[in-house]
Amino acid sequence: MATRGFVSHLDLNVAEPVASARFYELVLGHLGYRQHPIDEGRSRWTLEYADGALFEIEVRPPAVPSGSDRHERYEPGVDHLAFHADSRSDVDALYQKLIAAGHPVAEPPREYEYTPGYYAVAFDDPSGIRLEVVHDPTTNP
Ligand SMILES: [Zn+2]
Repeated sequence: MATRGFVSHLDLNVAEPVASARFYELVLGHLGYRQHPIDEGRSRWTLEYADGALFEIEVRPPAVPSGSDRHERYEPGVDHLAFHADSRSDVDALYQKLIAAGHPVAEPPREYEYTPGYYAVAFDDPSGIRLEVVHDPTTNP
């Protein structure tokens, strides 16, 4: 049976494609994605859903010039993007990799009161897109 309703792909226009490709390889590589470099400015990662369908993330330069090189999460558009982790130690391990790479982390790992056991780290990509990696036992036991 084909996958229906899950996200198919996400394309991100980024101000610093090379730095962003390195950054996303650190984050998505940690989460089990496979990188498929396209050319110097574009990269694609894929992750397989349980039934074999693919979710793809592509990072590429903007197609048109922008007034700003920085994404503003509270303006209209995407606020943040969150990925499942499989445990608290998975969240902590990514945090350690970000710190070791010298990448700033806006919200170090901690519990939140959204749901029982919700535990997350939050950080911005090089364009200012807020990412979160969360272990939420209520949605990912
Ligand atoms: Zn969130």
